[in-house]
Amino acid sequence: MGAIYVDQTRNRALINDDACVECGTCYRGMSTEHLNPVMVRAVRKAAKFLRFRFEPEPDVCPTGAFEMNELEMPRLIRQIFSDPVVEHKSTGIKGRGTEEVKTNDVSLRVNSGEVGYTIEFGRPGVGVRFSDIQEMTRVLAKEGITFEKNNPITHLMIDTRTGDLRTDIINEKILSAIVEIKTTIKEVERVLEIVEQVGERIDTVTAVGISTRCEDGEDKVLAPLLDKLGYYYSRAKTNMGLGRITNQIVLKHAEAVAP
Ligand code: SF4
Repeated sequence: MGAIYVDQTRNRALINDDACVECGTCYRGMSTEHLNPVMVRAVRKAAKFLRFRFEPEPDVCPTGAFEMNELEMPRLIRQIFSDPVVEHKSTGIKGRGTEEVKTNDVSLRVNSGEVGYTIEFGRPGVGVRFSDIQEMTRVLAKEGITFEKNNPITHLMIDTRTGDLRTDIINEKILSAIVEIKTTIKEVERVLEIVEQVGERIDTVTAVGISTRCEDGEDKVLAPLLDKLGYYYSRAKTNMGLGRITNQIVLKHAEAVAP
């Protein structure tokens, strides 16, 4: 995130709290030597005077200077969406991860004739503010598009009809997040247009994943449409349909549509 910088006037490395997403990588990624900071600075000064430098290994913090903050909302949301090793069940926010269509054979999240989208913000290593995510969700909501209800960003909306996110978190910055929506095949062109237009005016990286159900193992609808619209794509995750359906609602639906 570029959050760690050297303050030239104080000659100290500091963390820019606004840029930091509380991912904990600096804290976990460095070995620590717990030397006395006053002593380290004195040695450095003496070394400078004698014209040599005290340079520890770049992945070693000589003084154990990194500490994780005890966080509260709204700043805690940064950690929830950025630190892969932290869980905060007490917040009522269901983590940052999402199932997407990885279990579509048993969940039928995206059915025949439908298209599922994951609109991902902030990766790799750029980060995103909720205000930028809201810019996208508002435009999508205006088009009458509905959001996947089991997605963490949907969970943070105060109104899914407007795409408005909670005001207390709106300026918080996180490592990445995914907005999930579903439409009919007819709306693909419009949705991709919106993502492209909004993506150009927000201050982050946007990537789109798009999924559909294949008939007889082939995608005969979505892929030809993307070709026609001139989008580059590559087939990423293929769900083989070998899952055992345990969800009773899905099971009933599957029985009803079975030939
Ligand atoms: S917690 Fe993450 S974003 Fe913040 S300073 Fe450390 S590595 Fe950078």
